[in-house]
This record gives sequence, structure tokens and C-alpha cells, in this order.
Amino acid sequence: MIAVHSALSVFSLNSQNYISLAKREAKVEQNLSAGAFQKFADSGELITGVTVSLAFYFDDQRKLNVDGTAKTKARIICFRCNQSIMLDLCSEISSILVFSEEEAVKATKVGEHLRKELVVVSKNEPDMVDIVEDELLLSLPQSVEQLEFLGHKCGSGKNASKGETGLIERQFPFAGLRDKIEASKE
Ligand SMILES: [Zn+2]
Repeated sequence: MIAVHSALSVFSLNSQNYISLAKREAKVEQNLSAGAFQKFADSGELITGVTVSLAFYFDDQRKLNVDGTAKTKARIICFRCNQSIMLDLCSEISSILVFSEEEAVKATKVGEHLRKELVVVSKNEPDMVDIVEDELLLSLPQSVEQLEFLGHKCGSGKNASKGETGLIERQFPFAGLRDKIEASKE
């Protein structure tokens, strides 16, 4: 196994593609700048860059797999009390890469999407942001209950008044995020 270490520059990754990484069973460790994560602007603010550690390989069905983790710190605003909350995010990545929508449809027909996330990527140079961004977004809490589970205690802000529970759930910015992401893939 050939390890691709953290010193690897973007330049040298450009000379690779996903297939060559998988053939070599490469491990890629990279620090990605927060600014590369465009989709986060609507949902939360990344306080640090994103550290990824990803292993590429072909499984016995010749599918291109990528497994690993993506870690970062994010700041989000609690909808109920408007407090800003710092979160450590860590996403487990376990995906199959496909190179076109047609390939994704084919893989879905045989149930691959039940086993792992399907990620459509371009055939050009590898972009770790493509692989981890949606998973990081999905790791954001999607309800006040989840924030409370993570240790958040709502303050007594004006939005905490009674009788608004239904409204709060409906307007929580991350609710339905998976649906939005799925819809954007179509
Ligand atoms: Zn709160």
C-alpha cells in the first residue's frame, strides 16, 4: 500500500485521479480551507478548516470506495434561543464514487445506495470537498432536541416563548437538509 501523506500538495493530487488513487489503495490526508465549503454558508459557519483522512480502494465488485473521516469545528445559531453554539463535527465517510448520474442510477437499482452513500464526482482531478461536504452538512444537528442532546441549554430569549414548538421545528434551518441535498443531485 502506498500512503499519500499530509505533505501532499494539491499540485501532486492533480496528477492523480480517483481511479489511480484506488488502484494504489492510497490514503489521503489533507487540510481543506473552510472557504472551499460553499454549501456551508447557509447552514453554519466553519471556524476551522476541515481535516480529512480518506482511504481509496476498489472492493471485490470493482466499485470505487472511499472510507474515512472529516473533522472540523462549526458555529451554528440555535433557532429557539439565538445563542451561537460551537460544535465539533466529525463525519464518518463511507461512500462509493460514481462518475455520472447514469452510473448513480444504475448503482441505485442494484441497491448500492442502501449499503453506502453514492457520491457523483467528476473524472478530473480528485476534490476531497466533493466527497465530504454533504456528509458534514448532514452531521449538523437538525432539531433543538439534537442540540440539547449535545449539551446545549436554551437561554430564555424571546423566541423561547410557549406555543411555538411546531413553528420552531418547521423553521429550523437544517430540517430536511438530506432531502434538499438529494434534490440538488437530481
Ligand atoms: Zn437554544
